Amino acid sequence: MSPATVEADPAQQVLNAVFGYPAFRGRQRDIVEHVAAGGAALVLMPTGGGKSLCYQVPAILRHRAGQGVTVVVSPLIALMHDQVGALDEVGVPSAFLNSTLDGDETRRVERDLLAGRLVLLYAAPERILTPRFLAMLESLAERGQLALFAIDEAHCVSQWGHDFREEYLGLSALHERFPQVPRMALTATADDHTREDIVSRLRLEQAERFVSSFDRPNIRYTIVEKDEPKRQLLRFLRDEHEGDAGIVYCQSRKKVEDTASWLSAEGIPALPYHAGLDADTRRRHQDRFLREDALVMVATIAFGMGIDKPDVRFVAHLDLPKNIEAYYQETGRAGRDGLPADAWMAYGLADVVNQRRMIDDGEADEDFKRLQRAKLDALLALAEAHDCRRVRLLGYFGECYGDGGEHEDDDAAGAVPRLRCGNCDNCLAPPATWDATEAARKALSCVYRFRQQGGKRFGAGHLIDVLRGKVTEKVAQYGHETLSTFGIGAEVPESQWRSVLRQLIALGHLRTEGEFNTLELTAGAREVLRGEVQLLLRVPAEAPRRGRSTRTRGGADKPPPLPLDEAATARFTALKAWRGEVAREHNVPAYVVFHDAALAEMARERPATLDELAGISGVGSKKLEAYGAEILRVLRQDA
Ligand code: ADP
Ligand code: ZN
Repeated sequence: MSPATVEADPAQQVLNAVFGYPAFRGRQRDIVEHVAAGGAALVLMPTGGGKSLCYQVPAILRHRAGQGVTVVVSPLIALMHDQVGALDEVGVPSAFLNSTLDGDETRRVERDLLAGRLVLLYAAPERILTPRFLAMLESLAERGQLALFAIDEAHCVSQWGHDFREEYLGLSALHERFPQVPRMALTATADDHTREDIVSRLRLEQAERFVSSFDRPNIRYTIVEKDEPKRQLLRFLRDEHEGDAGIVYCQSRKKVEDTASWLSAEGIPALPYHAGLDADTRRRHQDRFLREDALVMVATIAFGMGIDKPDVRFVAHLDLPKNIEAYYQETGRAGRDGLPADAWMAYGLADVVNQRRMIDDGEADEDFKRLQRAKLDALLALAEAHDCRRVRLLGYFGECYGDGGEHEDDDAAGAVPRLRCGNCDNCLAPPATWDATEAARKALSCVYRFRQQGGKRFGAGHLIDVLRGKVTEKVAQYGHETLSTFGIGAEVPESQWRSVLRQLIALGHLRTEGEFNTLELTAGAREVLRGEVQLLLRVPAEAPRRGRSTRTRGGADKPPPLPLDEAATARFTALKAWRGEVAREHNVPAYVVFHDAALAEMARERPATLDELAGISGVGSKKLEAYGAEILRVLRQDA
């Protein structure tokens, strides 16, 4: 870049020289320019979208312009540590204030703050609202040395969201006490309700809103039908994620423990994480996950918020989350570095039944339960979908997937063109569908016959036996072989019947009741019985079908995360080993030193001079100075 453009574009200059990145992503440039000029902003960006740079670059620019320090409000201690560690690596003076510092350390940070030495200061909301801290901010503001407030994870201010934090409510004080200091709020939580809460509680009515697309193109969505879930998980890990870091979500603590020890026994390094473990164990496990390359964290939803490890290569769900919001947030923890990542879920009839039961048995009032059921239904529809998962996900968040998507004409004549993302299971291997309308009617009328004959209810297993005309003990006991529906579905395999029932439940035409999950018709059953609803269902994966059994997942259709030849792979390994030493020495996670992507590019390009090395994305001037010679040496050694 010529000196003239550097002058003209200070934001770009900071991005290149400090962070070593060639270009802003998405709306980053607009946001940075708006905030650097003193504008207030509300930034909605998906996880991994690059929110940190949106306040870090303005912070640097405003500090250079003599406007003082940017105060970042963050709810998570681990996150503050990593961010400050990363800023330290790129040579930006910053610090955090939280309960992990002792008195001396705290006073040192406060001195640096008041003396104007810090570009960024991270602090938890409860710290910021103490009289002592507010007084320091007053003193800075009086001298025009308070450049910006950046409120990260701003959805914590909303009682509506699941991460609500009481202390965030107090942050409206910032507006009252420092009306002249620009404020920005950032979050990855998209829904309207939360968004409006943020605006009104943080008094951001005047702020410009920057809403990014919530698409995560590098994440591949896959939802499989549960068959033997552990074995399915193991196959997924072995075939596609050998040696990768990832998260496996389970619903219960017990299942977390079981799954983690089972994976370990299978030779896959895994640790458990749930709220039942003591704080020390949790911290240790989290630390190892952040710092190690290839650890699988098996966890309840207690794990994840604030984990900004960029190289999480997969998020797997062994149980169905509560709703699409939770699913999207949890899966969003994969692939923040933009490299290919997987969101994989196994789900089955029991999941549907369990989630419904949890809602029914919950303490909430009927209105709230209705809302929860509707949200669950949307997730079930996603799981049962035979069209593009991404189109559905984004559609749920009110976003229309389209630009850049491939269009494919429906087979049916004159049908609306269907959008395909090309990076979800349904796009990559479109599932066969079968018209289950007739089968669904048979199932529902069989449930109806049970009720007519004696009023007793039965579960899915017995229903399928009757439909398939199997004379079991139970069938004989209740005389069900005399029902008109006995054997009317003999031609449909059992697995396909399970799928019909699951989907009838998912779609609300059938529900389960009581301890034994007996089946009962809903009001919505009538439409199916009258033939008003057409049911086009996926053919269950285990049902024999031509063309499906040899899916090429993990084969040629998957872009390799790091396309390196043998020699380059050796260099990459050597660079990683070197990075590991530096990370240990500096007590930071490896990705804070360099991302995998940066090391891979070095291994591939083999820069021979510092100038060439500076051209690699992720190598800013400080890292070049600190590590350049070492990296060149490692690269030369492994030539
Ligand atoms: P978020 O907080 O939105 O989840 P981060 O700020 O942690 O995302 O950014 C995700 C990753 O992307 C980080 O590792 C960051 O260094 C990287 N990143 C952000 N912006 C850019 C950019 N313009 N060019 C290259 N990498 C970027
Ligand atoms: Zn798709």
